[in-house]
Amino acid sequence: MTQLIQTSFDNYTVSGDVAVILICAAIVILLKTSYVSRTRSLRIFMNVIVSLVLAAGVSIAYHAVVSLDDPSLFGWIYFLRIFYQAMVFDVFFLFTLYLTEISGMKRKQAKKTAIVSVSIMTVIIVFDVVRTLLGYGFRISEDGTVVHKTNLFVVGYLIYVVLIVFLLYKAKSFLFRRVMYGFYGMMFLSVALRVGQVATEQSSLTTMTFVFPVIAMLYLIHSNPYNVTLGSVDVHAMEDMVRLMYAGGEDFVISSLLLPEYDKEGSEIPDEIKAQVRKFSLDFFKSSVLFQIGPGHLVLIIPKRSNPDHRAGMDKMLENFYIQFGRFRKSYKIVIGESIDEIGEKNEYASLIRSIERDMEQNSVHRIVPADIERYNRAEYILGELYDIYKKRDANDPRILAYCQPVLNLKTSRFDSAEALMRLNLAKTGIVLPDEFIPIAEEHGYIHVLTEIILQKTCAELKALADEGYYIRRISVNVSVLELKDENFCGDLDRIIGDNSDRIAIELTESRSDEDFVIMKQKIEELHEKGVQFYLDDFGTGYSNMERIMELPFDIIKFDRSLVVASGASERSGRIVDNLAHMFEDMGYLVLYEGVESDGDVDRCREMSASYLQGFRYSRPVPIEQLKDFLPRSV
Ligand code: C2E
Ligand code: CA
Ligand code: CA
Repeated sequence: MTQLIQTSFDNYTVSGDVAVILICAAIVILLKTSYVSRTRSLRIFMNVIVSLVLAAGVSIAYHAVVSLDDPSLFGWIYFLRIFYQAMVFDVFFLFTLYLTEISGMKRKQAKKTAIVSVSIMTVIIVFDVVRTLLGYGFRISEDGTVVHKTNLFVVGYLIYVVLIVFLLYKAKSFLFRRVMYGFYGMMFLSVALRVGQVATEQSSLTTMTFVFPVIAMLYLIHSNPYNVTLGSVDVHAMEDMVRLMYAGGEDFVISSLLLPEYDKEGSEIPDEIKAQVRKFSLDFFKSSVLFQIGPGHLVLIIPKRSNPDHRAGMDKMLENFYIQFGRFRKSYKIVIGESIDEIGEKNEYASLIRSIERDMEQNSVHRIVPADIERYNRAEYILGELYDIYKKRDANDPRILAYCQPVLNLKTSRFDSAEALMRLNLAKTGIVLPDEFIPIAEEHGYIHVLTEIILQKTCAELKALADEGYYIRRISVNVSVLELKDENFCGDLDRIIGDNSDRIAIELTESRSDEDFVIMKQKIEELHEKGVQFYLDDFGTGYSNMERIMELPFDIIKFDRSLVVASGASERSGRIVDNLAHMFEDMGYLVLYEGVESDGDVDRCREMSASYLQGFRYSRPVPIEQLKDFLPRSV
């Protein structure tokens, strides 16, 4: 007794499957005409599209063959049905693969999931075939009608839905919540459509149910933030193009335009300028691609192959640029270079360009030369080491050296204090001076850990000196204004210096911003009350705001070497420096002259209210253990 279930045939129209094929075609066109990251998940996605098109095509063929009702084609019916099922389950399998890929699952776990998923697919298909062979599954009965008995397809469908929901759940800590909801929403729609089909005994839209998750993938994962007016794409797209060109050994010219005025969050390049830049990229080069890698930062990549005359093109573009930009009156920085394997391999053009721009004058054009790459690599290396130091946070890190420069107290004619100065000692570069690494450490937020290490070393040395019977009044340590903003600053400092607080001084430079000032003032006052002294560093190099200086409890004003030099350059500047120093002295500050190099410097400073002198005239900075050579014994 067989039960005839003909629903899947009777209520089939071809439009659902045709629609699936057309939608897939549309997706392929969109992917081909936009810049989408060529990731592994995109490859899986493309496979989904292929399987879906095959499934829809086979479904059409299957129903066509069934409707022919020709006994000689019965073999084809079996084949097409299995093929259809295999494709549909393949889509399911690829969905699960896709989810393991985007959920950042560990390799091992992803492999396990893939095996489970493949097994489900195989078991169902094999089981289905076996049932047909044994004569009680899907088959064509003698009178030529298609017979289904308990559709295994539905079982497989349900198992996969459960697996997919499970994977989405597993991915929840990794996926952005709204993206998750997007996937759930699409899942819901496709299950609803499937249930609706069963309820209405329909079968035209079976393949269509798979299109919803595909739309979720396209929109949520592979969509691409196009800048419509500029026709440009973002930095990830640029990295993508670089990766492809590097892999294909294709050379290109890269040219970057930075408009500093617009290069901040929320800012936008005016349409007029955008239109002009877009025109440049079209007028002077073939198949060049414009990328926007920051709010005010555009990069043009020009393939050499399609632009054999790229040099002339670049000259013409620059010539035009000068004319047009004279009109806009905006400042700019332009960097031009050719593809370099070393940078392509690491895909670091954006950061190379940024590092070059940092040292560039406004309104200038720089062509990348090998020395730039060397400098960049060196800075990257230093950055990597700094990161490692930062991470380890080890007070005994051998890469950090504490040097010290003794300071002469003119009242006692003895070296009774010193300034701690940091150096890095790195395997590949040897000693690195602070002017090179402090800005990098500041920019990346590593400076505070460096300060902590230097403070620890300084405190250890203070103790060693005391134990050995040397006398030293105080050692000053340079602290970056940025650090003062950190809430934990006072606590960290307290913890490290312990009962050394009156033997540690902190050197600070002036800060220009109001916001900094309020925070600085609080912290400085708190620490000053505990006995920590404060020096104003580099006086004379910035735009000094006397009112502000007076508001902070500085003990010593360090006159920068430039003032020492100026005082000897003309009578007039000498008088200015003298008066400044005198004024500070009058107000109860002590004046320290930095960068005293000659006897002449010493004599002038002595005449200009100096209390302390520091400079090469007495000693270069020496490793902190050698400081004792300058110090008197306390007994
Ligand atoms: P700074 O605080 O103004 O330190 C004085 C700099 O002048 C030192 O350079 C020192 O070697 C140099 N100098 C000393 N005497 C003379 C002289 O007679 N003539 C000349 N021309 N220069 C002299 P250094 O050690 O290379 O440090 C450079 C800057 O790096 C320092 O300037 C300071 O701003 C910063 N720095 C050094 N160590 C640290 C640190 O531990 N933390 C922080 N945040 N900054 C540091
Ligand atoms: Ca200093
Ligand atoms: Ca200084």
